[in-house]
Amino acid sequence: MNQQEIMTTVDEYVLHTYNRFPISIDRGMGTHVWDSEGKEYLDFMAGIAVYALGYHYPEYDEALKAQIDKVLHTSNLYYHEPLALAAKAVVESTGLSKVFFTNSGAEAIEGAIKSARKYAWMKDGKNNHEIIAMKSSFHGRSVGALSVTGNAHYQDPFKPLMGGVVFAEFNNLQSVLDLVNDTTCAILLETVQGEGGIYPADPEFLQGIRRICDEKDILLILDEIQCGMGRTGTMWAYEQYGIKPDIVTCAKALGCGVPVGAFVLNEKAAAKGLMPGDHGTTYGGNPFVCTAVAEVFSLYEKIGLISHVKEISEYLASSLDAFAEKHACVTAHRGLGLIRGLEFAKEVPVGEVTKRALEKGLLIISAGSNVLRFVPPLIITKEDVDEAMAILEECI
Ligand SMILES: *Cc1c(COP(=O)(O)O)cnc(C)c1O
Repeated sequence: MNQQEIMTTVDEYVLHTYNRFPISIDRGMGTHVWDSEGKEYLDFMAGIAVYALGYHYPEYDEALKAQIDKVLHTSNLYYHEPLALAAKAVVESTGLSKVFFTNSGAEAIEGAIKSARKYAWMKDGKNNHEIIAMKSSFHGRSVGALSVTGNAHYQDPFKPLMGGVVFAEFNNLQSVLDLVNDTTCAILLETVQGEGGIYPADPEFLQGIRRICDEKDILLILDEIQCGMGRTGTMWAYEQYGIKPDIVTCAKALGCGVPVGAFVLNEKAAAKGLMPGDHGTTYGGNPFVCTAVAEVFSLYEKIGLISHVKEISEYLASSLDAFAEKHACVTAHRGLGLIRGLEFAKEVPVGEVTKRALEKGLLIISAGSNVLRFVPPLIITKEDVDEAMAILEECI
């Protein structure tokens, strides 16, 4: 099929829940992709913060090809080596205790919610437990994950949603304190709000929540589906706050392209939470995706990816600062490491900027209505940053 035929066929047969950019991606290499007509693009969205290692990392591809020749799927009724390797790598990196692998980020959130409810239920046997989530958050599209997503636009058509959820203001500790009561079983937030416009948690806010959770035996759930896996310059963003969550959720870059997520629990949340029979998944953590996860962790270590992120993100940050300084229509620059946002004045159509960037050979996306989001592959170079900034310059 040529590019036009592909787009026409997709539009004819695929449910229209996405307004897609008008290109069909054919292949990728490193930080670049090519469409079906052979046009090249620099990728600064990485499949929405997924392709941390870029496209076609040779060892990653080889590990997956070798696993295809062995076994793709076993169900969770049997042991397999990729699960052992992936689980050890994930758990050790988080400093927590046990992991459950899922097929997506939303499912990781579902598992975290169930774990928190079960933990509280085992303490007092009641069925009235509340979760405190944040306004302007994003946790996924399944009904449970949507119920903790503080965005009326996403929620309203699907009500009634799961009950027992209340919403506080992100980075406003008092607004959280006001909602805490004896039924609170968990406080759930993104360490860096992604879809909501790239807002990192303030240290006092996150540390304050950790203190509340310790005092009241409430579980702190951090959603690092977008900001985790080295994107902020540490493997997990919470490392920069000197705290640990009781449960962390992860997906996106966890498998660098294969569909895999996880929720990881500390000892107490694991011990008093989900037991045999409480939770399950047919595909979750199968040999194929676990091979990817294990290889991703091993490659991060081998190529020193996190120190590269620390270095290159400083360069990106100063380039964005300069850009914001130069253009009056840019009202703010926020972020940590390689998850950054440029906020534009209300009257600037950011969607138009991303469309023009596409025409000029740059893949980039928005977050919320007026923020241009930078979540490039973690392997980007200074030349990539310079190229992206030069293209954006022409788009303003
Ligand atoms: C993308 C995202 C999710 C949902 O992940 P899916 O794999 O799309 O279900 C949840 N939380 C955050 C912070 C995300 O960025």
